[in-house]
Amino acid sequence: MTKIETLLTQVGTQTDTKTGAINTPIYLSTAYRHAGLGQSTGFDYTRTKNPTRSVLEEEFARLEGGDGCVACSSGMAAVHLVLSLFKSGDALLYPEDLYGGTYRLATQYEEQYGLKAYFNDFSSFESVEKQIIEHSIKAIFLETPTNPLMQEISIEQCAALAKKHDLLLIVDNTFLTPYYQRPIEMGADIVLHSGTKYLGGHNDVLAGLVVSKGEELSTKIFLQHNAIGMTLAPFDSWLLLRGLKTLHLRMKQHTSNAQKIVKFLQQAPQVRDVLYAGLGGMVSFRLQSGSQVAPFLQNLKLIAFAESLGGVESFITYPTTQTHADIPEDVRNARGVDDSLLRFSVGIEEADDIIADLQQVFNILESEAIVHD
Ligand SMILES: *Cc1c(COP(=O)(O)O)cnc(C)c1O
Repeated sequence: MTKIETLLTQVGTQTDTKTGAINTPIYLSTAYRHAGLGQSTGFDYTRTKNPTRSVLEEEFARLEGGDGCVACSSGMAAVHLVLSLFKSGDALLYPEDLYGGTYRLATQYEEQYGLKAYFNDFSSFESVEKQIIEHSIKAIFLETPTNPLMQEISIEQCAALAKKHDLLLIVDNTFLTPYYQRPIEMGADIVLHSGTKYLGGHNDVLAGLVVSKGEELSTKIFLQHNAIGMTLAPFDSWLLLRGLKTLHLRMKQHTSNAQKIVKFLQQAPQVRDVLYAGLGGMVSFRLQSGSQVAPFLQNLKLIAFAESLGGVESFITYPTTQTHADIPEDVRNARGVDDSLLRFSVGIEEADDIIADLQQVFNILESEAIVHD
């Protein structure tokens, strides 16, 4: 079987049979001529299907090992699309540690539409099963590793529970991408992504993807995607195709840099603890105190204090005021997202340069501490 590195590099290269174009053409046309009544080239109107977007969707379904894929205008649009498959009164189970935007939508839709949201820390599958039975859970919506605490949840174990209780398993695979983790092969029914992050990889496109297993579920998602209309634009579809071609190279470099940075942070006296899943570029760490966060962020030179992840450039985010600000403070603290926690999206720069930037900030923190003593 062709290796994923080759599939990624060759994304879209053999799709334009008319001209042989290696690079997928960008079809901006929103409408398509019909030769006669009941006749179609397969394309009628771009919200339903667009040739550039279709290449992305077909290629990405293959990369995730799914049967269908739709490309959405953002990761949150992808989350919304998945939630729109349920009806009022249905209950979903989420990990306690979850992307803030997903938490916001899940709790908002509970209030607005009665789509119930339950949470579990997934440290005990007995307790997960108890909740499934007690609340007649219809779907488990996972993130693994979790955001921002990098806890790993077994997809296989969740898949076994989902099968036993006849519920859907949905996995947000944004952090590890299909290069490191293919949830459908492990028993998931739906995989979704914020394509804005590693898939695009260059902080220049907002996108989401929903991949599904089986024809029935894929058709349902395809119809809903068209009905709601949160489709990805042709140019943005092309940017994502372009990003995918180097995903494997970037992920390898993100991982090797992250592993070096984890080692550095673990021995730094200014750092209380380091959270890392072992693969990928996402690392979280806690400074000794929340009061050090402001001077830490202010003195970064190379690393950007910015709210996103998965791009080639190193970013540090402060979950308390950024990605997780919509989670109430008491809930956040109880779950370990405290005011000393920073989330590091390690870029693909030379690791030594990233470490040097961290070291110069730590030196400043040290000298300020001495002044204050
Ligand atoms: C960013 C992110 C989202 C939301 O995606 P957008 O493209 O910002 O709408 C969803 N899940 C995870 C894990 C994310 O990091």
